[in-house]
Amino acid sequence: MPAEPTVRDTGVADGTLSAEQAGREQLAACGRDLLARGLLSQTSGNLSIRLPGDQVLITPSSMEYDLIEPADIVLIDLAGSVVSGSRKPSSETPLHCLVYVERPDVGAIVHTHSPYATTLAVLGLPIPAVHYMIAIAGTNEIAVADYATFGTPELARNVRDAFPAPARAALMANHGLIAGGRSLKDAASVAEAVENIAGLYYRALAVGTPMVLSDSQMADVLNRHRPRKPQ
Ligand SMILES: [Zn+2]
Repeated sequence: MPAEPTVRDTGVADGTLSAEQAGREQLAACGRDLLARGLLSQTSGNLSIRLPGDQVLITPSSMEYDLIEPADIVLIDLAGSVVSGSRKPSSETPLHCLVYVERPDVGAIVHTHSPYATTLAVLGLPIPAVHYMIAIAGTNEIAVADYATFGTPELARNVRDAFPAPARAALMANHGLIAGGRSLKDAASVAEAVENIAGLYYRALAVGTPMVLSDSQMADVLNRHRPRKPQ
């Protein structure tokens, strides 16, 4: 069930492309797109898609995004073991796997070290509802997961704790941002929106005290724009 949107997004229902091949192509293209948009740089960050059958496609470790081809994407199981692929999977494989195990609503994950989100993560500052577009993140306040060394099960657990459903994003202390969505396009859109709101919050803090929308104001936003795309 959780992977169905991804399958539909790729046109696999037409039978023209396997879900795995479509996912590989989406991940390679999304990496380039997020690189061009300034959300990814060098080899930092990682992207994944959940496939039917409890398998996950994830970007390889230590490869620059403009060099990643569909064949470089690694197929793993939910325990993080490589099913197929000659590359080493992302160092944050434990994080991606734990989120997929515990969040059946999440079909794709985008993890970045994007500049403003990471600046707030360095400051340990959660992002409050300084703009109604925070609704895209499924929460009125984007939490900061406690710090732990990258790639460790401890970091995966800390992020899991800061990222309960229906939240679609969390900051990671002294590290970056995680965003989840039903499809990769969805997760990338959440990541970009959160980076933009992080930039707004940072600039507002630099010159004054930001006004924060109340829970009732945010409830009104959610009611007007269900299911999840504010305009
Ligand atoms: Zn990272």
